[in-house]
Amino acid sequence: MTSTSHFLINLIGILLLLLIVQFWLNRLHQNPFVTEIVMGLSLSATVVLCMLYPFHTNGGVIFNLRFIPFVLGCLYSHKITSMWLTFLIICLRLMHGLEASWFSCVSLLIFFLITTKLKPFYTNLSMTKKIIISGILMLFMSTWIIVGVKFLFHVPITIELFFSYILIQSFGILLIVYIMESNKEKQSLLYKIIRMEKVEVVSHLAASISHEVRNPLTTTRGFLQLLNESKAIPKAEKGYLTVAIQELDQAERIIRDYLTFAKPAPEEIESLNLKKEIERAINIIVPLANMNIVELSSELESCYIKGNAGLFQQVLVNLLKNAIEAMPSGGTLSILGSVEKTLAKVTIADNGVGMNDLQRNRLGEPYFSTKEIRGTGLGMMVVFRIVESMNGSINVESELGKGTRITLTFPLTPSVEKSNSYIRILN
Ligand code: ADP
Ligand code: MG
Repeated sequence: MTSTSHFLINLIGILLLLLIVQFWLNRLHQNPFVTEIVMGLSLSATVVLCMLYPFHTNGGVIFNLRFIPFVLGCLYSHKITSMWLTFLIICLRLMHGLEASWFSCVSLLIFFLITTKLKPFYTNLSMTKKIIISGILMLFMSTWIIVGVKFLFHVPITIELFFSYILIQSFGILLIVYIMESNKEKQSLLYKIIRMEKVEVVSHLAASISHEVRNPLTTTRGFLQLLNESKAIPKAEKGYLTVAIQELDQAERIIRDYLTFAKPAPEEIESLNLKKEIERAINIIVPLANMNIVELSSELESCYIKGNAGLFQQVLVNLLKNAIEAMPSGGTLSILGSVEKTLAKVTIADNGVGMNDLQRNRLGEPYFSTKEIRGTGLGMMVVFRIVESMNGSINVESELGKGTRITLTFPLTPSVEKSNSYIRILN
């Protein structure tokens, strides 16, 4: 069999195995730990498959496509999985003796270091860039190996072997990365649609129930207030009425939160001074922070954004509250308000419990909460809804056990002073 057809059969095996696993993982919506284990096992199986059916050259050198599962492991899996794959390949390679394997093993260690260094940068790239980078990486690795084998071991390598080894590996990784990434994109789109539908349902419920409940509440509060002012009721018993009124106010507040969903946009839109708004939210949250031994640090730049002050306060307080609640045994909460080109940025970072990918993806979903009875799972939904209505965006970075950093970005508006002076000049 020629080298090209041999490598192509190898590639089909790898593709089939990885695609079946991907399909299965997407269908089940697994938790990250199970995903990691399944990925690790399927990549290990692919490595073994490649190394069991290698291509032998006339010079006695063996070639196979093991770098494809290896690179996928380093770029898409946990560090432990990529270390395991490196170890597995080295063990299988050493079965052919140290003399024949040292170059391959040393190269593998170098590739391991390069790809794991590249991973944090790679993860944040767009799909097209990921395809290009993985292709270039594979082109470099396969050229390194084949040129190294030719010059170090003086093995005759045919033009066909040279090109089929380099091109099939590079093409193979391009194809797999493309399929994996587009699958991921489709999955997240589907997830977004499901989420939007859920929000829609809550929104309708909120609109109808809130209005219906608000009216009797307001009436009851009015009568209680009247009773509270009556001279016929002893002073000691008026305490009960005060508590009842306070509780009704609390119920009214909860309904107002719900109503945020029913309203498509905030009513009174004004120019908000970001620095002042953040300072106000910090003042509200200070007692809670003190209670949880959380240290607050803030660095705020003055700038203006458009929005409704009340709703923006809800966003900030919800985010700050979540950050404090994520640090049950204390920590540092830092708040940064800054200007970048035409954007205002608010970053809220904590070093609390953090979230895994599954939790991070569910953030903003109605009723998603990990706080059992203490949580409602509505706070982040409110945040997403309000920020969206202010033409802003939210970016969440989080690592389990390390902390969470949430960045809000809003378009800047000219300050009040500036727009006044502009009018003055025009006059
Ligand atoms: P609630 O606070 O009532 O649980 P939220 O919508 O405010 O509801 O938050 C939903 C969930 O998101 C929380 O239960 C928590 O698991 C997670 N979460 C939100 N912010 C953070 C954070 N800063 N750190 C860790 N987890 C967070
Ligand atoms: Mg909350």
